[in-house]
Amino acid sequence: MSEQATVKRIAEICQQIHQYNHQYYVLDEPSVPDAEYDRLMRELLALEAEFPQLKTMDSPSQKVGGAALKSFSQVTHQLPMLSLDNVFSPDEWQAFVKRIKDRLKSEHDFAICAEPKLDGLAVSLRYENGVFVQAATRGDGSVGENITENVRTIKSIPLRLQGDDYPDILEVRGEVFMPKSSFESLNQQAIKKGEKGFANPRNAAAGSLRQLDSKIAAKRNLAFYAYGIGYVGASETNDDQGVDETWLANSHYQRLCQIKALGLPMCPEVKLLDNADKVDAFYQDILQQRDALSYEIDGTVFKVDDIELQEQLGFVARAPRWATAYKFPAQEELTILEAVDFQVGRTGAITPVARLKPIFVGGVTVSNATLHNQDEINRLGIQINDTVIIRRAGDVIPQIVSVVLDRRPENAQVISFPSECPVCQSAVMKAEGEAVLRCTGGLYCQAQRKEAIKHFASRKAIDVDGLGDKLVEQLVDEGLIKTPADLFKLTELDVSTMERMGKKSADNLINGLLAAKTTTLAKFVYALGIREVGETTASNLAFYFLTFDAIKLATEEQLQQVPDVGVIVAKNIVNFFAQSHNVEVVEELEAIMSWPTIEVKSDDELPLKDQTFVLTGTLSQMGRNEAKAALQALGAKVSGSVSAKTHYLVAGEKAGSKLTKAQDLGVSVLTEDEMIALINA
Ligand code: NAD
Repeated sequence: MSEQATVKRIAEICQQIHQYNHQYYVLDEPSVPDAEYDRLMRELLALEAEFPQLKTMDSPSQKVGGAALKSFSQVTHQLPMLSLDNVFSPDEWQAFVKRIKDRLKSEHDFAICAEPKLDGLAVSLRYENGVFVQAATRGDGSVGENITENVRTIKSIPLRLQGDDYPDILEVRGEVFMPKSSFESLNQQAIKKGEKGFANPRNAAAGSLRQLDSKIAAKRNLAFYAYGIGYVGASETNDDQGVDETWLANSHYQRLCQIKALGLPMCPEVKLLDNADKVDAFYQDILQQRDALSYEIDGTVFKVDDIELQEQLGFVARAPRWATAYKFPAQEELTILEAVDFQVGRTGAITPVARLKPIFVGGVTVSNATLHNQDEINRLGIQINDTVIIRRAGDVIPQIVSVVLDRRPENAQVISFPSECPVCQSAVMKAEGEAVLRCTGGLYCQAQRKEAIKHFASRKAIDVDGLGDKLVEQLVDEGLIKTPADLFKLTELDVSTMERMGKKSADNLINGLLAAKTTTLAKFVYALGIREVGETTASNLAFYFLTFDAIKLATEEQLQQVPDVGVIVAKNIVNFFAQSHNVEVVEELEAIMSWPTIEVKSDDELPLKDQTFVLTGTLSQMGRNEAKAALQALGAKVSGSVSAKTHYLVAGEKAGSKLTKAQDLGVSVLTEDEMIALINA
């Protein structure tokens, strides 16, 4: 690059970094991932190394952090609070070690204090005569914000040091951070309230500490680990003027142990390594533990342990020469949302899936991410062709964190949802209060086929003996069945020629299907798998309408007359039968299957009419389903939960909380024998 072009590029980078610094350090709201920031900074450093004459005093490469907020009083650090240099690879680490050896003019090994790189913000705590008197942020390295009152609320920071062996004035440097669990619950609460939440635990910790009202910080559950010592001195009011330099150990690690002994928390993962060759193993070990740790880290930090060597090495503008961060590969990256596809899940849920320009993040190449539903798309404010931040941490599936609005192109397109199922073209619907859009072609839709058939044949539905979930999958995969009605068209030959199926299993299945042709209306309705129509609702529908035709033709208003059926369930039923695809399958099934007519019983024949029962514990003689059917046949309602409206609780063996609740509410409790006696009366 020519010098002229370099001048232009440096100016561009500096302007961009200034903007990112402001968003990150002042607003606690970064707009790009750290990886993008680090790339720009490295480009700047490389250009400044090539053209040293272009390096200016106010270049971001020469500065620490951002200016202190004016809303806090300011604290001038007695010793500057610096940043850290970064290395990202074994080669860069080796170059760091070589630089140290060259500068020390020594080939000797040196011990290293190895620490996780905590992802929070640096603070300096000042103790005078053992009492906590002040806390300050790093600010621009020379002047920070006075955040004493907020830091006072952090439970793990002692307000008085333990013991009595400490200097009159002691500044402890360390990181305030927000544990992962606190960060997640804080963000969940924010999302519930319709607020934006914080981008990461680092910004959440910084945002919490820079609240003017310390009651807010107190609620945020912040934590602290010490990783160094700042100013140490004698109090001016102390007659015994000499600073007790001897108090300070000559090893960084030992110093951390000293402040730990005073009651300050020290990160338990910190280790003393005898030489630079042990660094790689420590890095790998911490990387492995990363997801399991309760706090966020973004790398490791390695510090020359010997304080005399540290002093010989000294500092450059923004960082010490005796320490470096060795960062982990990025978990957040930038990419482009190229398109959105819609996938239909096993239960008909239609999920928007982001198709991304492939990007290497969190150790893998990511090209898809779920967008969950319309609410999530609205929350992110995302459009096709947007630049997005993608996050992949540990084994967690990749996630779109946010959109970089500054980079929205002119051809950005609003994401529109399909009005019909992309797989079977049935209508789609969104139930009230639900964020998910669903396909209504449950019995027919290819995407839902396997689940629909498994449900249809299950024990509580039409109960086909000899047909397990695996066999359903095999039958569908081999193209032998597409809908539940196809089950009854299977021949013994079809089945016995399938892989892993002998004649005996084929016979079993065909006999099972034959037996399952006769069922009850309630079971048949349940077997159709209409959304939210469970066993009880299906049975209520059967006893209310008496015939299948009546159920099929019922309006939403009529359906809502049935116990247990509300607006949403009524809509689901009407929508189900409004799909010609479903009707085709249902008509085929009606032609094949049969069930006894439901006799309308007089009130005399329904001695338990309007009595509500709840069954709990193990019923060893009848079984729950059988007992339920017998009670319902006598007009009883069988509910799942105990309330003041419950008439009887039938308590089998090992009955638990429902029994206690019934006793508390004064509900009559029956044993299984008493229930059987009632049924047979
Ligand atoms: P840094 O976070 O890379 O390293 C220095 C800081 O590390 C220290 O001040 C301290 O707070 C912390 N630290 C954690 N564990 C430590 C330990 N064991 N010992 C010593 N220090 C420890 O540097 P920085 O100057 O605070 O910030 C620069 C970095 O912040 C960039 O590399 C970038 O990743 C990020 N950043 C991102 C944006 C953005 O827009 N995304 C903007 C500005 C900065």
